[in-house]
Amino acid sequence: MTIWPLRWPTLSLRLRLTLWYSLTLAVTLWIFAGFLYTSLAQNLADEIDKTLNDRALELNRSIRLDTFIARGGRVRLELPNPDVFATGDTFVQLVTLDGEVIAASANLAQQDLPITPEALAATRDGHALYQTTQVGDTAIRLFDAPIVVAGRSIGMLQVARSLQTYRQSLIRLRAVTIFGGLASVVCSALIGSALARTALRPLERFARTAEEIGEARDFSRRVDYRGPRDELGRLATTFNRMLERLQDAYAGLEAALASQRRFVADASHELRTPLTTIRGNASLLQQVPHMTPADRDDAIAQIVGESERLSRLVQDLLTLARADAGLHLARHPVGLRGIVAEVIRQARFWRDGVLVQAGELGDATVIGDADTLRQLAVILVDNAVKYTPAGGSVTVSLVADEGTAVLEVADTGIGISAEDLPHVFERFYRADRARSAGGTGLGLAIARWIVTEHNGRIDVVSEAGKGTTFIVRLPASITNSYQALTST
Ligand code: ADP
Repeated sequence: MTIWPLRWPTLSLRLRLTLWYSLTLAVTLWIFAGFLYTSLAQNLADEIDKTLNDRALELNRSIRLDTFIARGGRVRLELPNPDVFATGDTFVQLVTLDGEVIAASANLAQQDLPITPEALAATRDGHALYQTTQVGDTAIRLFDAPIVVAGRSIGMLQVARSLQTYRQSLIRLRAVTIFGGLASVVCSALIGSALARTALRPLERFARTAEEIGEARDFSRRVDYRGPRDELGRLATTFNRMLERLQDAYAGLEAALASQRRFVADASHELRTPLTTIRGNASLLQQVPHMTPADRDDAIAQIVGESERLSRLVQDLLTLARADAGLHLARHPVGLRGIVAEVIRQARFWRDGVLVQAGELGDATVIGDADTLRQLAVILVDNAVKYTPAGGSVTVSLVADEGTAVLEVADTGIGISAEDLPHVFERFYRADRARSAGGTGLGLAIARWIVTEHNGRIDVVSEAGKGTTFIVRLPASITNSYQALTST
């Protein structure tokens, strides 16, 4: 026989809330009603006992000793008429200590109030006694009190009261409490459920919107909530803020993915050109053994040139791939002046007819990576030399100014047109493909990454036909004061 595990059905929050507070109300009402019922029943019982006691006292007071006339050794008492003390549901009976009924109220008819040996014994000792007992079909409360004359108990006085009214009152009270309590619980459950539904309606809307957003991946949607800034208001605001961030992240991701795809496509394209040239020339050398020395030299020169370009391209791609992978540069104090002066010295041999000169060369120390800072200077100076026709000049200056090192590379070259200017830092962007033959179109993209890694910024000012100036600003300290600081 398989026993299936017992599983509770998942109840909605509204139903759970309603059940919980209905249960709480029912328990509270139950405790309250129980307390009320018990104390009321006790009060009523006390009240009955008090009435019986009072009646017995009255009766006792009305017993008179006529005179002390000894007749056969007996004392003569004048007993009151029991009917004077009896009412509709109160009965009176006078009994001797032997249990013989002397007088009884008329409303007892043929019945006698029960006389128990305990009651007689208690009375003989001068004590009173309460009893709950039965006369015929009627439940009664019975008070047995001694009739005391001259300090001696000479008889028993019985006052009883029917408990019918008392019990009926209690039954009515019970019924009213139970039905009233049940009705209150049901009413409050219905009202509570309606209130919970109203209160939770915005939550249902949020959940629906979240589901729709999840299905359609439409992060531009927002949760519509027009209400006070309570818990739900805060939830709506937080949810919408989260959606905003998701939307940004998603857009960023899409942009990154698109640029990555573009990058891969561009890189493949760029790699294909030199490879085709190299393969073409290599097969030519292989297939045509009797080539003229001039053609042969030309083919070899092309292979060498394209191989150099290929390795430059691969090197640049590697640098950018590392940058994309989150490579962070070393952070050491680097003196910029030495690097800039060195690059100027080398650049003088890069191209005949272009004058490479130093402008103002101050000194500054940058916290960063010496190799990439040198690469930055090389990229900018190389471009300036490359895009400046013979007869032109390139001026490189370094100014240290209030925590900033400003490196300027200005040329009198071909300049960059206004349409190209916003794109020159993009990967593989080349304004003038013919002139930049040999370039990879990645230099300025790498330059921008290096500057960003050093927490600086790079700007370009250019006018087509007149020249271009690249300005790099890097956070720096004046070398002397820095050295003074570090040497202490
Ligand atoms: P490249 O390898 O083609 O030089 P870069 O990323 O270094 O690639 O430069 C991107 C483009 O910006 C170049 O193709 C060129 O059109 C333009 N450019 C860069 N520097 C200069 C400059 N000093 N003068 C004129 N054009 C420039």
